[in-house]
Amino acid sequence: MILLPVLCPHCHSDHVIKGGKTKTSRQRYKCANPACPHDAFQLDLQYKGHLPAIQQDIVAMGLKGSGIRDTTRGLKISPTTVMNALKKEPALTSVPPSLLATLHPDDVDVMSRRAEEAEVDAMWSFVGKKNAPRWWWPAIDHHPGKVLAYVCGRH
Ligand SMILES: [Zn+2]
Repeated sequence: MILLPVLCPHCHSDHVIKGGKTKTSRQRYKCANPACPHDAFQLDLQYKGHLPAIQQDIVAMGLKGSGIRDTTRGLKISPTTVMNALKKEPALTSVPPSLLATLHPDDVDVMSRRAEEAEVDAMWSFVGKKNAPRWWWPAIDHHPGKVLAYVCGRH
């Protein structure tokens, strides 16, 4: 028999205790590491796109300038997961037009520099209904491969 230690997927601690069963009678575990921000987890998450390691890979690929389609294909996860992970990442920020409209130009510092080569990648996904696609366009500077800005919209 082979015994594998159960490790917390968030902090990799092995201080893990059983934490009851889910509605679908899957074993739930609890992380007993007091420094860990997550306590409950299941061993085989239903969808690997939610694993912290995958979220980090998405952001790493985004910072390297990978297109959403490349990331989706490379990590075998859904475009929605890729977009949600990128939107949560503070290194990849957008400036919403609604915010710009409320700012006085004197209060805004603009940092402007020329990007040697940039690309705009288009990607769409559905939010709720199939007839309401949302498009997402990140503008990517090829060198150093940072996302310069992105826009979400209906077309
Ligand atoms: Zn933990």
